[in-house]
Amino acid sequence: MTLPTYQIVHDGTAIRCLICGRISYNKIDIRERFCGNCHQFHDQLGFERPSEREERISKAGKEK
Ligand SMILES: [Zn+2]
Repeated sequence: MTLPTYQIVHDGTAIRCLICGRISYNKIDIRERFCGNCHQFHDQLGFERPSEREERISKAGKEK
């Protein structure tokens, strides 16, 4: 089981890092799930498999 290390917020226009609490409005940060403050990709922080990521992205899209 993996814990999410980020949240997509503001209707998908921003990404919040749950590690440091930083919110980024950078489209590349959102697309790549990157935190410029931690200098880490959330995929690596969360150690999740791509299939799990796709499932969570589609779920997050429905829930906003
Ligand atoms: Zn961070």
